[in-house]
Amino acid sequence: MDKVDVIIVGGGLAGLSCSYELADSGMTVIVLERGDFSGSKNVTGGRIYLNPLRNYLPDLWKEAPLERHVTKELITLLSETNSTTLELYSDRFNHLPYPSYTILRAKFDRWFADLLSEKGIFVIPQKNVNDLIQEGGKVIGVKTEDEEIGADCVVAADGILSFLSEKAGLRKPFQPQHFALGFKEVIALDSKVIEDRFRLGEKEGAAQLFLGTLTKGVMGGGFLYTNQESLSLGIVVGIQSLNQREPREEVYKFLDEFKERPEIKNLIRGGETVEYSAHLISEGGIHIKPKVFGDGILLVGDAAGLGLNMLVTVRGMEYAMASGVLAGRTIKMAKEKNDFSASSLSHYEKLLSESFIMKEMSNYQHTLSILENQRLFTKYPQAISDLFEKIMTVDGNPKEGLYKMISRELKKEFFNFQTFKDWLEFRKI
Ligand SMILES: Cc1cc2nc3c(=O)[nH]c(=O)nc-3n(C[C@H](O)[C@H](O)[C@H](O)COP(=O)(O)OP(=O)(O)OC[C@H]3O[C@@H](n4cnc5c(N)ncnc54)[C@H](O)[C@@H]3O)c2cc1C
Repeated sequence: MDKVDVIIVGGGLAGLSCSYELADSGMTVIVLERGDFSGSKNVTGGRIYLNPLRNYLPDLWKEAPLERHVTKELITLLSETNSTTLELYSDRFNHLPYPSYTILRAKFDRWFADLLSEKGIFVIPQKNVNDLIQEGGKVIGVKTEDEEIGADCVVAADGILSFLSEKAGLRKPFQPQHFALGFKEVIALDSKVIEDRFRLGEKEGAAQLFLGTLTKGVMGGGFLYTNQESLSLGIVVGIQSLNQREPREEVYKFLDEFKERPEIKNLIRGGETVEYSAHLISEGGIHIKPKVFGDGILLVGDAAGLGLNMLVTVRGMEYAMASGVLAGRTIKMAKEKNDFSASSLSHYEKLLSESFIMKEMSNYQHTLSILENQRLFTKYPQAISDLFEKIMTVDGNPKEGLYKMISRELKKEFFNFQTFKDWLEFRKI
C-alpha cells in the first residue's frame, strides 16, 4: 500500500484550508475530492464573513475571487398579500477591510484548489473514498474505488453527511430535526442591472433574508445574495417540519412560487437560471457535534458538525475554513512528536474550544428551539405586515389617529400570553 503523511477526504473549504495550512510543512499531503473539480459539488447561500478568518488565513484574500462586499442587509417578512422589509445600509460595511462578501463556491473552491496545486499539494478530483482502513481501532488509510492509500493521519472533510466520521465511530446516527434542505438557483443578470435594482454602488452587494409564507408554515426561510453578475436565490426548509406537513408538498415548488412573488419577480426579471443545486444544511448546532478526533483521524467543517443558523445569518464557511486550519496546526504538532494517537490529536478539540467557532456554537445553542416555533413563519410576519399596511392605508373614511390605531393593533396581536412566552424563549439567544 502506498503511504503519504496526510490524506484529506473532501476538497471543499474545510479540506482545502487544512491542506493550505500544511502546504509548507514538508509533509506529503493529498486531497481526494469525488467531484469533477473542487466547487463542483459544493453549495452555499452564500455570504462569507472575513473578519473571523483574517488571523487564520491572512494571505488568502487579496487575489481571492469573491463576488461583492455586502453593504446592505435586508430582512423581509412575507405574508400572503403583503410584506415588510427592514433595510440596513452601513458605511462601516463599505470601508476596507470589508467585513463580508458574497461568494460562488464553484468559482472560489476551484481557484483555491488551483492555488494549492501551485504550492505542491495534490488535489485529486474524481476520487471517491468509499472506506477507511483501520488497524486495531486506529485509522491508517483510506480505500477508493481502485486503490488503498495509507497515511499517518486522515482528515474527514467530507461534508455534512460525513460517512467517514460514521465509519470511525465518532458520531451518533442523524435525526431529521437536525437538518434542513437548501435549494438554490443562480440567476445571471447584468452587473449594472443588479446595482440599479438593489440601489448599490459598483461592486457593492446586498444580502436579503426572508421569513414567512414562502415556506408555507414549514420551518425555514429564503435568501437572496447579489453576486457580481448573478443573484443567488434560495429556500431552506427543515426536514422534520417538512415531513410533518399535511398534505405533502413537492419542495421544489416552494422556490417556483417564491419566484412568482412580486417582491422577487421584479428583482430577477430578465435573468437566466444558470445553476440549480440542492444540499443539506445543519440546524442542530452544538447538539450534533460529533467527537472530532480519534486515533489517526480528525473531522473538520460540516463533517465535524460545525454549522449554525443564527436566525439573522447562516454560518458554516468560516467554521469550515478555521477548523481546517486548526486541524492542520494539530497535525504539524503531532508530526513533531511523531504521535498521531487520539490523545495527541485531542489538541484539536482544545484549539476548537478556544476559537470563535465553539464560543458562537455555545452562544447560539438554543436557536433550534426558537426556529421550531411555527408562529415565527406564520403569525408574526403576517401581523407585522398587516399593521404596517394599516398605518400606510388611506381609504374613503377619515384616517384614525396613529397612536390609537397602533395601540389597538398591538394589543390585539401581541399582548397575549403566547407572545409573552415566545419573547421569553427569544431571551435564550
Ligand atoms: C443552501 C445553503 C446555504 C448556506 N448558506 C451559508 C452562508 O450564507 N454562509 C455560510 O457561512 N454558510 C452557509 N452554508 C453552510 C456552508 O455552505 C457549509 O457549512 C460549508 O460549505 C461547509 O464546507 P465543508 O468544506 O465542510 O463541506 P463541503 O463544502 O460540503 O465539502 C465537502 C466535500 O467533500 C467531498 N466528499 C464528500 N464525500 C466524499 C468522499 N467519500 N470522497 C471524496 N470526496 C468526498 C464533496 O464532494 C465536497 O466537495 C449554507 C449551506 C447551504 C446548503
